[in-house]
Amino acid sequence: MATIKFWGVRGSVAAPITADDVSQKVLTALQAFHASLKTGNLSPEKFLESLPFSVRGTIGGNTSCVEVRCGDERICLDMGTGMRPFGNSLFPQMFENGGLTVTVLLSHVHWDHIQGLPFFGPLHINKETGIKNRWNFYGGTDWMSTAEACLRGQMDAPEFPVSWQEIKRATHEINASSVCDMMGFHVGAVKVKTRKLHHPQETYGWRIEYDGKVIAYSTDNEPYDPSCPDPRLLELAEGADVWITDCQYTKEMYEGKVGGVARHGWGHSYPEAVAETARRAGVKKTVLFHHDPASDDNKVLEIVEMCKGLVGVGQEVVAAYEGMEIAL
Ligand SMILES: [Zn+2]
Ligand SMILES: [Zn+2]
Repeated sequence: MATIKFWGVRGSVAAPITADDVSQKVLTALQAFHASLKTGNLSPEKFLESLPFSVRGTIGGNTSCVEVRCGDERICLDMGTGMRPFGNSLFPQMFENGGLTVTVLLSHVHWDHIQGLPFFGPLHINKETGIKNRWNFYGGTDWMSTAEACLRGQMDAPEFPVSWQEIKRATHEINASSVCDMMGFHVGAVKVKTRKLHHPQETYGWRIEYDGKVIAYSTDNEPYDPSCPDPRLLELAEGADVWITDCQYTKEMYEGKVGGVARHGWGHSYPEAVAETARRAGVKKTVLFHHDPASDDNKVLEIVEMCKGLVGVGQEVVAAYEGMEIAL
C-alpha cells in the first residue's frame, strides 16, 4: 500500500495564518453555533464536524514537503519548511529501529523547496549515538554539480549555526545522485521517473509507481499554452491515481488582471491549464498544491471550485492542506 502525507503545501514563501484570519474563523463558527441552537442540539464534536473546512481548518503555511510511503520505503518530495514537522514525526521510529532511510526527490533548489532541511531534526542525530540514518538525495544535473554548495550554502555561518560539513561527519550515510530528463530508476520496489518542468532554473517532476498505483508530482510548472498541455507533463501525469500539481494562481492573477502585476515567466500554473492536463492525462484525483502565499483559505478553495468546473466527469479535485493524508 502507498500513502501520501502533506507536511507543507505553500509556494514561494511560508505564509502562516494571521490573527485576523483566526478571529474571522471563530466569529463565523460562533454565528453558526447561534443559528444551530434553533435547529438542534449537536455535541461540540458534531458541531465542529458540521462546519465547512474553511472555518474549522486551514490550508497551512509551510512550504513544499510531501511524504510518500510505499511499503517500507519512505520518500520525501521537496524540503520546504514542512520538512521540520515531518522530521519531528520520524523520531519515534528512528529510535525504535536504530535509524531511518529517507529518499529525498528534489524538484529544484529554490528556497521554498530547501529551507526545511536545516530544521529536519533527525539530520542532527550523531552516529556515535548508534543511530544509523541514511539520507539519499536525488536532484537535477545543473545544480547537482554544485549540490554541496546548494545544500551547504544555507547552513554556512553566519546563516546557520551547524555546518553541512558537521552534519556529514556526524551522519551514518549521505548520498547524492543527479538526474536528468526522462530518467528512470528504482528506490527499492518503487519505480521513479523524471520529467523536466517549465520553471526558472532546472526543475523536475516525479512519477512514482508502486504496487499498481501511480503518484505524479509536478510543482513549479508554468503552462506554455493552457489549451495544449506540455507533452512532458501529460506523460508524467498519464493515468495517475493522484497528481499533485502546482496551481498557484487564478488565470486573472497570472495575467495581472488582479493582484497588480502579470506573473508571466514566474513558473506557475492556474486552473484552466491544470484541468486540461488532468482531463487529457486521465488523472483520477488532482491535488492542487504550491498555493500562493497571498491566497487565504477561501481563495484556495475558490481555485479548487474553478478547477472542479473544468475537469472531466468523475475526476476529483482537492486542495492540499497540511496534515492531509491519502491512502492508495
Ligand atoms: Zn516553489
Ligand atoms: Zn521554484
